[in-house]
Amino acid sequence: MQKNAKIYIAGHLGMVGSAMVRRFQQAGLSNFVTRTSSELDLRNQQAVADFFAQEKPDYVVLAAAKVGGINANNKYRGEFLYDNLMIQSNVVHYSYLNEVKKLLFLGSSCIYPKRAPQPLQETSLLTGELESTNEPYAIAKIAGIKLCDAYRSQYGCNYISAMPTNLYGPHDNYNLKNSHVLPALIRKFHEAKLAGEPEVEVWGTGTPRREFMHVDDLADACYWLLENYNEPGLINVGTGEDIAISELAELVKRIVGFQGIIRFNSNYPDGSPRKLLDVSKLTDFGWHYNIALENGVQEVYNEFRRWSNV
Ligand code: GDP
Repeated sequence: MQKNAKIYIAGHLGMVGSAMVRRFQQAGLSNFVTRTSSELDLRNQQAVADFFAQEKPDYVVLAAAKVGGINANNKYRGEFLYDNLMIQSNVVHYSYLNEVKKLLFLGSSCIYPKRAPQPLQETSLLTGELESTNEPYAIAKIAGIKLCDAYRSQYGCNYISAMPTNLYGPHDNYNLKNSHVLPALIRKFHEAKLAGEPEVEVWGTGTPRREFMHVDDLADACYWLLENYNEPGLINVGTGEDIAISELAELVKRIVGFQGIIRFNSNYPDGSPRKLLDVSKLTDFGWHYNIALENGVQEVYNEFRRWSNV
């Protein structure tokens, strides 16, 4: 990318978008176009059409999406499908009409079938039934991958799709009702410690396994992909290592310094039994993650305390 390339980061205030801004800045790029969701509703076709015609970005990072943890995905099924389909359709289509040079679409590891062989390979896409708790989100993201591929094959657009694993990092969502598990556990253990409570409730059985990656590592991989990767289909981005939710709870408990006990509540859903990505396609190019889970959780816990002022 040239140093003066104009880059539209859709979702620049979110965890992923803000990490992309930091990564581009590190690389000496600073010609950003950004809009908050109140300035530009990406679900609104005319608004997106006007925005692209006015700004004409060279590169687009599509990190704007309706996202959330297992509860939000399961509860707001209509919103997760509609909002994401609209956002990505508008951004991809007007990128094409305005001759964007390259677009990076961000998906999720939940696009893979529930019973696909682990670790999840890119070739498992559309080989079986999805996990029902996040099916609407996954269907939207699969449509996004296929949209990028269809625009590549019909119009020659260089649009690439990266599938990140579960992410964590600065600007995460700590709302217990709709967050992902890691920020939820940080908050729960921290508040239980302050209140001197005897136990913390963790959802599900604790047996599901998940892979976690710091968002700065994702941003580094995405920057690498924008510079070097120009292929159709999808590419997984993760650490290639997973951990049981029970082990994650123990890790967060230790880092926070909570002295009580952990109680698993199996009235809450477990979701997928395991979501570990096969990251060999990416690592074969020589890219590797940098931030170990323990260090990353310690860092976000410090940030969470600064942010919550305790
Ligand atoms: P998923 O990866 O799409 O299933 O999304 P989550 O990150 O929300 O959940 C991952 C796993 O952590 C699931 O098995 C949840 O049941 C479990 N979990 C345990 N405690 C919590 C919690 O407090 N919040 C959330 N979101 N998940 C939790």
